[in-house]
Amino acid sequence: MNRITLLSQRLSNQIAAGEVVERPASVIKELMENSLDAGADRLEIDVEQGGTKLLRVRDNGAGIHKQDLALALSRHATSKIAELADLENIRSLGFRGEALASISSVSRLNMTSKTGDAGDGSAWKVEAEGQEMETQIVPAAHPQGTTVEVRDLFFNTPARKKFLKKEKTEFTRIDEIVKRIALSRFDVQFTLNHNQRAIHKLLAAKTEQEQQRRVGLVCGPAFVENSVFIDMEGPQLRLWGWVSLPTFSRSQADLQYFYVNGRIVRDKLVTHAIKQGYRDVLYHGRHPAYVLYLELAPGTVDVNVHPTKHEVRFRDSRLVHDFLFSSLHKALAKITPTDQLAATNSSLHGSTAFGSNYAGAGVDFGGSAQSHLSLSEPTRQAYGSGFRGSGPAPEAIAQQLAAYARLNADDGEIPPLGYAIAQLHGIYILAQNQEGLIVVDMHAAHERITYERMKQACQNEELKMQPLLVPLSIAVSAAEAECAESQRQFLLQLGIELERAATESIIVRQIPSILRGADIEQLVRDILSDVLEYGSSDRIQAHQDELLSTMACHGSVRANRQLSIPEMNALLRDMEATERSGQCNHGRPTWVYQSLDELDKLFLRGQ
Ligand code: ADP
Ligand code: MG
Repeated sequence: MNRITLLSQRLSNQIAAGEVVERPASVIKELMENSLDAGADRLEIDVEQGGTKLLRVRDNGAGIHKQDLALALSRHATSKIAELADLENIRSLGFRGEALASISSVSRLNMTSKTGDAGDGSAWKVEAEGQEMETQIVPAAHPQGTTVEVRDLFFNTPARKKFLKKEKTEFTRIDEIVKRIALSRFDVQFTLNHNQRAIHKLLAAKTEQEQQRRVGLVCGPAFVENSVFIDMEGPQLRLWGWVSLPTFSRSQADLQYFYVNGRIVRDKLVTHAIKQGYRDVLYHGRHPAYVLYLELAPGTVDVNVHPTKHEVRFRDSRLVHDFLFSSLHKALAKITPTDQLAATNSSLHGSTAFGSNYAGAGVDFGGSAQSHLSLSEPTRQAYGSGFRGSGPAPEAIAQQLAAYARLNADDGEIPPLGYAIAQLHGIYILAQNQEGLIVVDMHAAHERITYERMKQACQNEELKMQPLLVPLSIAVSAAEAECAESQRQFLLQLGIELERAATESIIVRQIPSILRGADIEQLVRDILSDVLEYGSSDRIQAHQDELLSTMACHGSVRANRQLSIPEMNALLRDMEATERSGQCNHGRPTWVYQSLDELDKLFLRGQ
């Protein structure tokens, strides 16, 4: 056994670096956060060879006093907190005081800075040397602000260097960090150069329009065109940002930016709540895209739970979870054909022929101007009473003619999805609205309408509980049994009555009647584990929705059913009045739109 010795300064910093300095991108993150903490509104980032040769961040922030320069490079030295109580109210991005010390222990780092109130107006440069990392301070030239240069990352820790990937991969990660931070601070200008090539130049964005432009530059124009802007408030909570329309889903969860009080997080609770918000409209296995900002009182969230601060802990996690879920759920339900068409028309981007109907952003959810131009009652009944295969009745023909007359009169009363013209192959409805052609998948559309009606009916009746003839006893962990006991009231609201029977066993007494046939034991287990982890559970709702969805599917018009024109029109009107009618129960689009302009382009008209 060796004798005990004190580690050298550098070695202990290198050990700490293991946690925060994983690759060039992590260095960029720390340096950028320092610049923002210093109040800079202009950051210039230069990278060479994927960051392995050079990483430089120059800012116009407050700068560092000459006397503090050496201290800034030592471990546990920070200007951001002074006592434990400060940890409760953190507004800065950094506070652990170890980034610069760690980075300079595994690279050749120098830092030049000038403060605004430097009496003699001079700038100073510092670097650390040797095993004990003694510092050298020399005069330099620099405008107000700070430049940190990091060269030859991991030159003295070959084991770590081996883990670095190709230049391109490392740069992609740096780029991703820059994007994340750029989306967190619209008020700051960012430039990023790689091997002297300009990659980003993002000007400060003040207006909502400029902000949206930045979102487009960072996330791609398609995202902005296929998303809506939301802004919702809850009890001391605010959620705003851009969320993708359900039909613009992705195969990977790569376009997801979530900020808590300006800090990017990847949090299980958040991801879960958002996914749940999209549950009913997203195609199976797809991921939504979003850039979302959650704002809440700093005291209600703990950011000091993870070294790279990617996870957070909310004081009232159920409140946050439910707020996120219900905000998104509401927003997605409210997207109407009118909104979608308005977005399409306002977007200058010529979408591909028969792409999805969704385009544009900045849709206001306030009071959507839904036109209530429903056709006369008899038509509704005809549609409601099932679809007869017979040809159109005389009065139907009259109505059809009336509809055409209205269409041609062009009196601005044409509903968003227009009037039906014909049925294609017994599957699609062709309709004409003011500006173009609408094609509807009639089975998909009808399925959504039936489903939403059934959900509504179910909700109005509340969740009827039904006692189990033989109460079911289930063996669970002590934590789960405690949860069942303490959350008894909450579970009752879901329609489930549980009772704790012993330390590790519970009894199920009542369940929602609609779930009669379900595997109750599995359901209860899943619910308890949800509640333990996220403070809430939507399993009952999900289960119920699934059941209703299946029922709706069976009760909906099948393909190859001949519909009369009035029946088709009634379906269109119902779509306009139904929530989430843009997607079927499985998340596929129910209708697409092609404007006359786009049709003209297809035929090279007027070119
Ligand atoms: P932390 O950010 O956790 O405080 P760091 O090691 O990243 O720890 O930085 C140490 C200190 O150096 C900071 O608290 C800050 O006072 C100072 N500092 C670092 N970078 C800058 C900068 N770009 N501008 C002004 N001050 C800086
Ligand atoms: Mg820092």
